[in-house]
Amino acid sequence: MGKEKKAGEEVRIRCYARVRPSWDYELQRPGVYQSIEIEDDHTIRLSKGSKLFDFDKVYGPSSTQEEVFEDVAKDLIENAFQGYCGTLFCYGQTGTGKTHTITSRVKGQEGIIPRAVDYIYHKIGDSTEYTLTFNYVQLYRDNIEDLMQKDTHGNLRRIDLWRDETAGGEQVVLKDLVTVKVESKKHFMKMYDVGSANKAVAETAMNAHSSRGHTLLIVSITRKERAVEANADMASIEAQRQLNGKLIFADLAGYERIKKSMVSGIRKDEAATINLSLTALGNVIHSLTAKATHVPWRNSKLTRLLQDALGGNSLTSVIVTMNNSSEHITETVNTLYFGYNAMQCKTTKRIDTGPIDYKSHYIRMQAAFKVLEQEKKMLEEENEQLREQLIGEALPESLRRQSTGHTPIPRSQHQQEIQGYIDVIDELRQELEAQNSRAVELQQQVDSLNTALEEKDLEGAAFADEVQ
Ligand code: ADP
Ligand code: MG
Repeated sequence: MGKEKKAGEEVRIRCYARVRPSWDYELQRPGVYQSIEIEDDHTIRLSKGSKLFDFDKVYGPSSTQEEVFEDVAKDLIENAFQGYCGTLFCYGQTGTGKTHTITSRVKGQEGIIPRAVDYIYHKIGDSTEYTLTFNYVQLYRDNIEDLMQKDTHGNLRRIDLWRDETAGGEQVVLKDLVTVKVESKKHFMKMYDVGSANKAVAETAMNAHSSRGHTLLIVSITRKERAVEANADMASIEAQRQLNGKLIFADLAGYERIKKSMVSGIRKDEAATINLSLTALGNVIHSLTAKATHVPWRNSKLTRLLQDALGGNSLTSVIVTMNNSSEHITETVNTLYFGYNAMQCKTTKRIDTGPIDYKSHYIRMQAAFKVLEQEKKMLEEENEQLREQLIGEALPESLRRQSTGHTPIPRSQHQQEIQGYIDVIDELRQELEAQNSRAVELQQQVDSLNTALEEKDLEGAAFADEVQ
């Protein structure tokens, strides 16, 4: 495998806006008005102006967790099952509903993560083809920490991050993360709760459960390659390709004005690093939108963590969250512009089939080729039988009827019968031709794999003999 970047389809980041309900005390403050209006399902208007912001969809205060999940997350999950990577994150001022939208475990109010786990397991059903694992990290005060791993002093393990540009594409790599292999929905949620309990959370004036760091839950859905059976059919051979789907759910901490949050000491430091990382995120989005030659990915660990989601191999959806009280209009406008800019960014949609194992690929191709050869032979025999049937049975039958004084088959019916046979033969011939070209194609692939094997000095010829 070289360092060349794999091709993929260019896609736009999707962006959704969600306005959380206002609390009574917020509305009762003197001089407070609603800073935004929901114009329609796709548009938000700034109340004291004519500025409009369009999104893929806008959710008002009465929107449900279920409808947000259906619109925003389901498609990403379906794509992950096909081997794509999907990222979903919320962006917005503190206290506007990011954590509620992504992670809520409140009964009947479950957020996207528990709903996604439900959906994934429902989709997997009884199938044993899939392996599900997850990693769970937080970015706290500019350190990446493994939420699933503590050292002997009870501190979360710090994780290094780098960018791997060797695996036929670029991707963010987090070194020595604990990968949790999950067996069931219940097991998943139990382990997820263990990690969540390790998150940095604190009470501030703006939010009773304010996230003090950004968290990323990385779910991998792998469809395993199985050994090819000697007489497997074509469909099952093709279905055995390995697919590595990935879903990243990021619950970002929100921008907070130190004065409004009334924080001090360590909370103030936390807020400062949160704000810096969010500014860096905004700058990256702005550079991408402006198609700048330099994108400042390296200015913050948050932007490095989200590099694939914003400009690499990922299908990405962003939910911008806001509180429409005019007290927060500055933050709301900032959030609206962030979403507006994010929608202009492009990423790449590319299937991840894992590293190519030449040997097993070769065996699969050989097996597929044998199946095709068998099918071709059967088709040829069937074709021959029909031809004989047509000549030796259909024609004499109609002639016999005439010679034995039976009512002769009307000429038109006779012709129809023959035409029927001709049509069947025609169909068979077309099928045969298609099989033939597929066989040629497969043979070419087998040949080139053989060459690759030889070049790679993987006991090429001997190995090829062995599997014949
Ligand atoms: P953030 O993560 O953006 O700081 P939270 O998700 O913690 O904000 O939300 C702050 C509070 O508002 C929580 O008590 C949460 O349950 C509530 N909340 C947020 N959005 C909604 C919503 N759409 N419907 C009902 N309650 C909400
Ligand atoms: Mg939060």
